[in-house]
Amino acid sequence: MAKKQATCSFCGRPADMAEFMIPTADEKNWICPDCVEQLHAMILDFHKSINGGAKGGKGKDKSNVNLNKVPKPKEIKEFLDQYVIGQESAKRYLSVAVYNHYKRLAQNDDDVDIEKSNIILVGPTGTGKTLLARTIAKLLDVPFTIVDATVLTQAGYVGEDIESLLTRLLQVADYDVAKAEKGIVFIDEIDKIARKGDNPSITRDVSGEGVQQGLLKLLEGSVVNVPPQGGRKHPEQKMIPVDTRNILFICGGAFDGIEDKIAHRLNSHVVGYATDAKKKHINKEDYMRYVAPQDLKSFGLIPEIIGRLPILTSLEPLDRDALRRVLTEPKNAITRQYEKLFAMDGVILTFAPDALEYIVDKAIEYKLGARGLRSIVETIMIDAMYEIPSTPSKKFEVTIDYAREKLEEANFEAAAV
Ligand code: ADP
Repeated sequence: MAKKQATCSFCGRPADMAEFMIPTADEKNWICPDCVEQLHAMILDFHKSINGGAKGGKGKDKSNVNLNKVPKPKEIKEFLDQYVIGQESAKRYLSVAVYNHYKRLAQNDDDVDIEKSNIILVGPTGTGKTLLARTIAKLLDVPFTIVDATVLTQAGYVGEDIESLLTRLLQVADYDVAKAEKGIVFIDEIDKIARKGDNPSITRDVSGEGVQQGLLKLLEGSVVNVPPQGGRKHPEQKMIPVDTRNILFICGGAFDGIEDKIAHRLNSHVVGYATDAKKKHINKEDYMRYVAPQDLKSFGLIPEIIGRLPILTSLEPLDRDALRRVLTEPKNAITRQYEKLFAMDGVILTFAPDALEYIVDKAIEYKLGARGLRSIVETIMIDAMYEIPSTPSKKFEVTIDYAREKLEEANFEAAAV
C-alpha cells in the first residue's frame, strides 16, 4: 500500500515507521494511522464543544442534535398547514411533541430527565391522521416509518411479531442502530388491537390484549431484539438489539363508536343543571373533541398503554367547506396534481367552480369523505387523460356537465355504494 518514499503530510513520519500509509485520491499526499486517530479525537471534541460538553450518560447518544437547526413548533405547524386542511388542535399537539422530541435528544445534562411524550391521534377515517404523520416525516431528519397495528399478533401466532415494528425503522435508518434509536414510528389503526373482552365469541384474544402487552414494552422504552429482515420467514437471521427509550411513537386510530362512550361519560358524570346544558350543546360528531383517556379504556385499550401515550388529541370529521378546500388548497391537492399532469403535455387544465362543488357533493352523498374525492376525480378524468395527449387541444375545462356525465357513465354510484 505504501510507497517507500511516502511521508505523512501531517506528522512527517516516513512510511517505514508507520504501520501503513493512507493515500489521498491523487496519491500525492499521505496520512499515517496515528494521525487519523488524532483527527478523529479532535472531531469528537469539536462535537462535544458545540453541544456544551455532552456528558452522555444513561446510554443516551445525543451528540448530534443541534436545537438551533430544528424547526420551532410554529414553523412545524406552518409546514403542516401547507398540506393538511383544518385539524388545528392535532397540528399544534404534534408540532410541540416533535419539537420536544428533539429537545430530549439534545438534552445535555441529566438533572431533569425529560420524559418521552408519545402521542395518540383519535379521529374518523380519512380525516388526515396518516397525512399528518407523512407530512411531518418530510420535514424531519430523523428516521420515520409508518406501520400498521393490524398485522401484529402475539408471538407464536400467525402474523408479525411486535418487534418487527422496528424493522422498518432500522431499514429507513440504513441499519444505523444509533440513528434508528432516535426515530419516530407512526402506528396506524391502534384501535384494531383493542381488547375485545365484551365479545364472548372470542375465546383467545390473539390480536388484542396480548399485542397491547407486547407493544407496551416498546412504548415504555426497553431494549428489544429486532429481526433485521422482519417477519418470521428468516429464522436464521441474527437479531439486532434496539433501545426504544428515545424513539417517539405516534399512534392513530378511528375508534369507531367511541363517541357513544364519551357521551355516556359526559352525561353520567355531570349532574344536575349542567347535564342538561351539556346535552343541549354537544352534537354527536362534536363529542370526539372531548375524548379523554378513560374513553380509550372503555374502548378496550389497557390502562398501561394509555399511560404511555400521554398526549391525546382528536381530529374532526371534515365538513363540506373542509372537503372543498382539500380539493384545491393543499400543496399537492388532487386538482393541482391533474393540472400538473396536463401541463406536462402543454395543456392548461381548469376545473369550473360548480364542478368542484359537484365533486364535493358526491363525496358527501356517498359518505366517502376526503378519500373519496380522489376516486371521484380520477373517475371523471380518466377519459380526458386517455384522449387529450393525442389531440391538438391546448386547453381543457372540467365543467359540471362533463363531471356529471363521466360519473354517470362510469356508474360511480353503483360502484361506491
Ligand atoms: P386517516 O385519518 O384515515 O389516516 P388519511 O390521512 O389517510 O386518513 O387521509 C386520506 C386522504 O384524504 C389523504 O391522503 C388526503 O388526500 C385526504 N385528506 C384527509 N384529511 C385531509 C386533511 N385534513 N387535509 C387535506 N387532505 C386530507
